[in-house]
Amino acid sequence: MSRNLRVRQAQTVLPFGVGAILDIQGESFVAAGIGDWPAAKIRRQILAPRLVQKLPRVTALWAPPPAPVAEYDVPDARGPAYIRFPSWLFCGSCRRMVRWRIGEERFGRPPVCGSCQPQRKLAPMRFVQICAQGHLGDVDWWYWAHSQLTAPERERCPDRARLRFRVEESSTGLEALSVSCRNEECEDASRDLLDIQGTKALRCTGRNPWQYRSESADCPETVQIVQRTAGNLYYPVVHSALDIPVPAAPVVLDSDTAARVRTHAFWTALCQALDAPSARNLFDLIAESVGADEALMQALLEEETGRRLGEPAPNPAGTGPTGGPDGDPPFYPDLSWEEWTAFTQPVPESSQEFSIRRVGLGIEPDDAMPWHALDAGIAEVVIADRLREVRALQGFTRVSPSEAIVPVDTRVGARQAHWLPAIEVFGEGVFLSFHEDSLTQWEADAQVQHRVTGMADDLSRSFQRDRLASVTGELLLPRFPLLHTFAHLLIRQLAFESGYSTASLRERVYARPAPAAEPGPSQSGILIYTASGDADGTMGGLARQGEPGLLAETIIRLLEQAAWCSADPLCAEHLGQGFANLNRAACHACALLPETSCETGNSLLDRMLVVGGTGVPGYFEAAISAARVEAAQISQESGLAEAPAP
Ligand SMILES: [Zn+2]
Ligand SMILES: [Zn+2]
Ligand SMILES: [Zn+2]
Ligand SMILES: [Zn+2]
Ligand SMILES: [Zn+2]
Repeated sequence: MSRNLRVRQAQTVLPFGVGAILDIQGESFVAAGIGDWPAAKIRRQILAPRLVQKLPRVTALWAPPPAPVAEYDVPDARGPAYIRFPSWLFCGSCRRMVRWRIGEERFGRPPVCGSCQPQRKLAPMRFVQICAQGHLGDVDWWYWAHSQLTAPERERCPDRARLRFRVEESSTGLEALSVSCRNEECEDASRDLLDIQGTKALRCTGRNPWQYRSESADCPETVQIVQRTAGNLYYPVVHSALDIPVPAAPVVLDSDTAARVRTHAFWTALCQALDAPSARNLFDLIAESVGADEALMQALLEEETGRRLGEPAPNPAGTGPTGGPDGDPPFYPDLSWEEWTAFTQPVPESSQEFSIRRVGLGIEPDDAMPWHALDAGIAEVVIADRLREVRALQGFTRVSPSEAIVPVDTRVGARQAHWLPAIEVFGEGVFLSFHEDSLTQWEADAQVQHRVTGMADDLSRSFQRDRLASVTGELLLPRFPLLHTFAHLLIRQLAFESGYSTASLRERVYARPAPAAEPGPSQSGILIYTASGDADGTMGGLARQGEPGLLAETIIRLLEQAAWCSADPLCAEHLGQGFANLNRAACHACALLPETSCETGNSLLDRMLVVGGTGVPGYFEAAISAARVEAAQISQESGLAEAPAP
């Protein structure tokens, strides 16, 4: 019964990054903290200086080598660690429950029932428990089975591991499932799962499954019992940066000498014993044998351990500069301005990572009216033939996205690493900007302002405010929902016309006001891109859609589509739908995208701002009207016009 479980390297940050549950071929694992990742000598450094500089305390990004999942029992395992979770499993045949231990893992083989012949694969229990501090644990099934007994009756139970997970064939739903005790002394110890998701009685373990018992926090939170596939089990905090040409900082940490330091036989020993009397000797010994100078050695130490040789150890627990068991507050660095500049300034020299060309919409003077109306709204079209994106995982929350963040390294104090797991992906895209003058004029309209002020009020009440402010900027300009909705409509149309799936296309909305410190024009553009492949992974299909002529036709068609939704008139008239009521005229039928495509979790969308209606002037209303007039003319000329009403 051998098998091969693999996680693609790109998935080790999203969706199967630290803290996430991986359900694969009937088995279930959790991705462990980076304290359990392979040593630096087999990780690969991901260079993204622009991103690293903006992340407090972060000194480097590392990608894991691609590797099979179940390698925790292999010395020097190559990939990130995935640990079996939940550890309570059951046999579908004899219904015995088994508490699985890491020492029982056999590489390449799933856990099997020891009581059944032929051997049967054990299945993971469906329910787990989480709390708002980001802890995750097994449900205490022994307690559950005995929870309706008195305390003295519970005391009589001789063996807490002998449980059975029963299923009643005669009924369906959770009341058909029950956990009971197999010991003779506990005849009545049994309870079904009917109200398990509402129960408040169970205690939090104060840790995540990869942490030792000694690392448990004294957690006062009420636990929630959820299915292990529940949406609120895991909210990753991921930062993304496009690689754009900036004057490169010297990358001493990526030199051959640096690599020799990291692979030196004593390097790990040095990192783990910075306070030992022998640390200086080890330091000098490594430096001499690989030819590294003091500065490089210290920089590498700081990258790996967060401090230099000779520096005092930080406060081991608490909220000192290295954070503590409570975790850091999430931070949302704004990386948009450099990207915006790169797309709108004179085309930089292309590189392996970034290659763009300015193409325009390709509208000619003798083209018909709709095209000119479109041209009046759109300033620039830039094709990105090559993009590199770096995604780094800071940590995660459970229960809700606004809870305390659990860092990717759950070790506390001096042992906490200062790097983040990251991946790089390559792709291509189309960038569009709107005319600043037309935008300013449109934003000055009282109806537009009224509509977007309502949205901004809802946003300021939302618990997602801080996260969304990193995308909208400090102030929600009317152009944000306009450009954002336009990006969604364009992705849907491009997917329809080019054969890309909507989930493979992503947006970046550039609609932030200029920072108060540096007054100037606001941002006014969008980027639609696809990035999933490795270095050779681009196909050119999306870039081709941005070519002159082709894109203009796509936009006219999307505008015609957007004027009507199958849920209209309800959708068009909505004044608060979607997450936290942050959407207006936008629903699954007309404007929403898969989670992975959208920067805001499908909020702050409103079709009316694009096409006009319900009293609001749309930014592209003139283009749509002209397109309708033209369509009517064409059908009239070809004799297809409907007979005039009597
Ligand atoms: Zn069995
Ligand atoms: Zn018992
Ligand atoms: Zn807890
Ligand atoms: Zn709709
Ligand atoms: Zn979006």
